[in-house]
Amino acid sequence: MAGMQDEQNSYRILVVEDEEGIRELLRLTLEKQGHEVTTAASVEAAEAVLQAGMPHLLILDWMLPGESGVAWCRSLRRRESLRTLPIILLTARGEEGDRVHGLESGADDYMAKPFSPRELVARVQALLRRSHGELMPSRLQVGDLHVDLRAHRVTVGDRPLSLGPTEFRLLRVFVSNPDRVYSREALLDLVWGRQAYVEERTVDVHIRRLRRSLETVGYADIIETVRGEGYRCNPAACRIPRSGSGEA
Ligand code: CA
Repeated sequence: MAGMQDEQNSYRILVVEDEEGIRELLRLTLEKQGHEVTTAASVEAAEAVLQAGMPHLLILDWMLPGESGVAWCRSLRRRESLRTLPIILLTARGEEGDRVHGLESGADDYMAKPFSPRELVARVQALLRRSHGELMPSRLQVGDLHVDLRAHRVTVGDRPLSLGPTEFRLLRVFVSNPDRVYSREALLDLVWGRQAYVEERTVDVHIRRLRRSLETVGYADIIETVRGEGYRCNPAACRIPRSGSGEA
């Protein structure tokens, strides 16, 4: 279930890499996953970024101009506040001895260049899960709508709602960030994944299905169309209509 591994949480990731091409590949790949990425081309620049706030994860190149990534990694581990910062070390070397040396410097994981965006995402997500698993919610709630991410169950009040897997992932995206407008392109990335060749109108088809399911519990209005932009969740619509209700 590869799709279900991509929790929609956004993390702050610091990328320290002096080669611009690789730095941009890292940034773009991770931003596509919804993360907030800051980059630095040297240890000195990275130190300044750390002063401004702690990231959730650090991707650090071994060979940097000035202080090397591996030496900096060691020094970070000696600082109380950075002892548990998740670190992935990057290197052009792929020797087993280098791997051991890299991990001995205190890095949590090690990735040899060249790497594919797919491997990068898998390693980052795995390390985030190991390190920040507790930050990832197992349940989402908007109004009376409850989404159980582990059990894949949706309930409205006490009533279960039956959804197909794609509609479930769509709903999860909307409910994770109520009020945020998602373009069809963003939804394709988040729900179908970058590797999938799916047309944008497929999004509309599944939105219609999702709305039809929501309609059975009186929630068809939860998913709003934002003209010319895409779709969003309307939290105000996530209330069980009271029978014979007047306006509150
Ligand atoms: Ca380098």
